[in-house]
Amino acid sequence: MMLIPDAEHDDLHLGERPLIVCDIDEVVLEFVTPFAAFLSHNGHELRANSFRLHGNIFELEAGAETPADEVSRLLELFFESQDEWQTPVVSAADSLARLSGQADIVFLTAMPPHHRKVRRKLLSSHGFDYPMIATEAPKGPAVLALHGARPHPVVFVDDIFVNLQSVRTHVPQTLLLNLMANEKFRALAPHPGEGVDIVTDWTHAETLIAAHFDASAR
Ligand SMILES: [Mg+2]
Repeated sequence: MMLIPDAEHDDLHLGERPLIVCDIDEVVLEFVTPFAAFLSHNGHELRANSFRLHGNIFELEAGAETPADEVSRLLELFFESQDEWQTPVVSAADSLARLSGQADIVFLTAMPPHHRKVRRKLLSSHGFDYPMIATEAPKGPAVLALHGARPHPVVFVDDIFVNLQSVRTHVPQTLLLNLMANEKFRALAPHPGEGVDIVTDWTHAETLIAAHFDASAR
């Protein structure tokens, strides 16, 4: 298996069957909701004014915008202690367990790779026993390195349109699904662009993925 540049990952052995590459934050683990709780625990507040973190975080007491370097520090602390905060997205574990009967599943997370260990443990504790790649490099080249020229169907699930479009550019035959757990921020999200299906939850995603596999097998 080809190595993904600038990534830390588990052993990757793909079978001769479809592949589902799946983001983690906001897709299989809640991110926005627990991060907001973490912020308020630390004297800050996340306001849903626009589709970003920086600029939307304020000091609870003073009401002033939290400086960018402090936001970055808080994010780093959150990822360090993510196992105390992050919970699974509804139905993600059940849907992926059913789909894993038909397809290989690989997690591709943009989280800084040095938090890989704590995330790996957290995922496994919730039944997400699929290999994980942690990289801050663009996702399109990573999916290409993983899937290459294999003839099998490939699916990519993510909440961020830049990631979806990166995969669309590098592996154009991919079924692209835009899934975001947090409803407030989902409502503020930019349109994911051409060639991407927006799904409301994992039940919806599972239906589209199963239909895609059926159509590809015909
Ligand atoms: Mg995400």
